[in-house]
Amino acid sequence: MESHNITLIPGDGIGPELTDATRRVLEATGVKFNWDVVHAGTDVMAEYGTPLPQHVLESIRKNKVALKGPITTPVGSGFRSVNVALRKELELYCCLRPCKSYVGTPTLYNNVDLIVVRENMEDLYAGIEFEKDSASASKLISFLEGLGAKIRPDSGISIKPLSEFGCHRIVRFAFEYARTNKRRKVTAVHKANIMKYSDGLFLAVARDVALSYPEIEFEDRIVDNMTMQLVKKPQQFDVLICPNLYGDIISDLCAGLVGGLGIAPGANLGDGIALFEPTHGSAPKYKGMNKANPMAMMLSGVLMLRHINEISAADKVEKAIAAVIADGKNVTYDLKPESTHGNAVGTSQVADAIIDMMAKMP
Ligand code: NAD
Repeated sequence: MESHNITLIPGDGIGPELTDATRRVLEATGVKFNWDVVHAGTDVMAEYGTPLPQHVLESIRKNKVALKGPITTPVGSGFRSVNVALRKELELYCCLRPCKSYVGTPTLYNNVDLIVVRENMEDLYAGIEFEKDSASASKLISFLEGLGAKIRPDSGISIKPLSEFGCHRIVRFAFEYARTNKRRKVTAVHKANIMKYSDGLFLAVARDVALSYPEIEFEDRIVDNMTMQLVKKPQQFDVLICPNLYGDIISDLCAGLVGGLGIAPGANLGDGIALFEPTHGSAPKYKGMNKANPMAMMLSGVLMLRHINEISAADKVEKAIAAVIADGKNVTYDLKPESTHGNAVGTSQVADAIIDMMAKMP
């Protein structure tokens, strides 16, 4: 049996515990892995002088597939986000976040099965910002005044670039995903009525790309209306394609619809490179407490198994996770109704229960 070379980044905070639990579950499928365990984040700063050492990037470029735990971005320390840096360095332009409801999760909604496709490189996340009262902000304000745009002098400015290339690449990805995975509909999320030349371009590109996929229904929604409709009736949607900022917000909203961050997996995809990680962060307050839900990271592992074509192993892990959630005994606090938090089990017990469940499956 082929052994898969995978870069494994445990992360920090709750990351190492979740990684350990996930690794045990993935290995219990019988699939063979050569894990290349490498570390990034504040903990390696002293040794390498950077939170994202070059050998971490090299490992991912070589193996082409990585599984990653969350990494803390300390506020106000000047420390660059390793998560954003990884996406930029490896040109992981697509963030794929499936949000699926499993029977037994404490949520108001049933039968939700959404795929959020978020653009990962452009938009207000491009990091093009000008601080209030800085020389560059003043220069930009004067320059824009020359073009007839009036901005108060005491403004901080963030720039929102959306390129035709970037829009085309992400929209094409969403439609290709829909076609391959037999999805029925793609909904483009935007605010093109107000931002006519950025979101307007995104929408125009989406409409144009949709013409090449006549078998897939296409529609668009203005982002504010979209949030309301998602909360009212999420089942009417299927694949959502969003520019970066709306994708960030919508994917957390969708995670909330299906029971929270503890079961929200994610993938960051580029041409030929894929990095799988949960949507949630490092939840430092739960570090080392064997308390956090490992399922989001395990479901990210399921996406990884599908990516490396280990389909039956992927199905098995997902079915076992669904069965453990439905059973309701061996789940962490976030999947228990508030009154029964005391009966919750820990991270490693969830892994044990999933492994036991897989052993009972045909
Ligand atoms: P967070 O997602 O870490 O935690 C928010 C809250 O959600 C937690 O307090 C906890 O109540 C709950 N939660 C999160 N994951 C859970 C899990 N697996 N099981 C049960 N409950 C869970 O968000 P935050 O507190 O805003 O961020 C903490 C740190 O993580 C920050 O430094 C942030 O920059 C970083 N972060 C990293 C990533 C990443 O690595 N991709 C993503 C988001 C945030």
